Amino acid sequence: MSQLDAKPNQDETVLRHVLHIIANTPNPVECLAPILEAGRQATGAVGAAFISFSDPLLIKANGLEETQLPDLETFKALAIQHPTAIHLNPVLGDGSPLGHAIFAAIRAQRNVVAALWLTFETPLDEVPSSISALVDGLTIVTANLRQVARHEKIARNQSDFLRIVSHDLRSPLTSMQGFGSMLESGMVGELNERQAYFVEKMLSGITQIASLVDNIQDAGRYDPETGFYEMQRSPCDLIGIVHKIVSNHLVPAEKQELTINSQIADNVPIINADSNMLERAVTNLVDNAIKYTPNGGTITLSLYRQDDHIIIGVQDTGLGISPENQKLLFERHVRIPRIEHKKVKGSGLGLFIVRSVAQRHGGNAWVESSEGEGSTFFISIPLNGENELVSSL
Ligand code: ADP
Repeated sequence: MSQLDAKPNQDETVLRHVLHIIANTPNPVECLAPILEAGRQATGAVGAAFISFSDPLLIKANGLEETQLPDLETFKALAIQHPTAIHLNPVLGDGSPLGHAIFAAIRAQRNVVAALWLTFETPLDEVPSSISALVDGLTIVTANLRQVARHEKIARNQSDFLRIVSHDLRSPLTSMQGFGSMLESGMVGELNERQAYFVEKMLSGITQIASLVDNIQDAGRYDPETGFYEMQRSPCDLIGIVHKIVSNHLVPAEKQELTINSQIADNVPIINADSNMLERAVTNLVDNAIKYTPNGGTITLSLYRQDDHIIIGVQDTGLGISPENQKLLFERHVRIPRIEHKKVKGSGLGLFIVRSVAQRHGGNAWVESSEGEGSTFFISIPLNGENELVSSL
């Protein structure tokens, strides 16, 4: 067993190569295989492996089968025996050899959290230069892996928390809505004017909370990165969905003296998509158009085919949105502070849901707008892959 330092010049070349891999591979897990390959070639090893001891255990090997590696307990024992230096031809505590190999511990914040293992065909009598560069590169990747795992855990906790809270709030809200509506309808006795006013206020508050809870639930479920919702694809008639949404919004639009209409092309096919999700997304756009368009305006839904995409557009004659704000709108919880919309309530989740729905169908969502001239929000759904309805004929 020996503890030797690698030569600095060859180290530098390997380190530069390894850093180049890290810089060009955003996902740290994907860096491991090319780095191991670079290390294998630079050292003349027949096989190289990276073993992370953290949970979940990660093993990446190049030129080696996992079965050719010592077991995890052996690696952990080696890490305890040799926590710092690079070890040539390591042996177990009882002196039994582990073949022609090099073991190097990878550390993060003083703890050994992973190991590098290189095996050679013939015995080595010195540590090849470049191993320490390899260890440095793997240390950087390990730090990134730990950061990513930490962020994923926080995001998972947050989304679990929101899922549980929003789910548990939903049923008492539904029951409050039901009993409130019965009171309002006079089913359990006539209300005087003051009582009716109070019940109306309570119901309006409950509706607001219910809509917030729905938004929180759907933003968590549909999020393409962390969403757990499994899409329910079936033949989806977008023309029917647009007609239904227009008809559902006639009354709310009329309350604000808005005209709502639709322009539907006749070459829009039935697709294989999640109708509920798409209806939810288009509804959000129309709700927004109503919320953010001053009285007297017009809202137009359009549905057409453009090359190999279906486009759904919701146009309004509202205030429009500045180019800087257009870039931010589809992010979670973004609301534009605007004096004209001071009284409009919202969670900033509506457009995040719209984009998530589009992305989960392989499409996109965006807005085109000029300030003072209104906005048109678009959803595009590609007419290929899973979205294509395969005829059984
Ligand atoms: P919310 O409406 O709950 O605030 P959204 O994610 O649906 O959240 O919208 C984000 C922001 O985008 C809104 O707060 C509003 O400022 C702006 N916005 C959305 N739709 C329109 C529209 N049709 N016209 C002008 N501004 C809009």
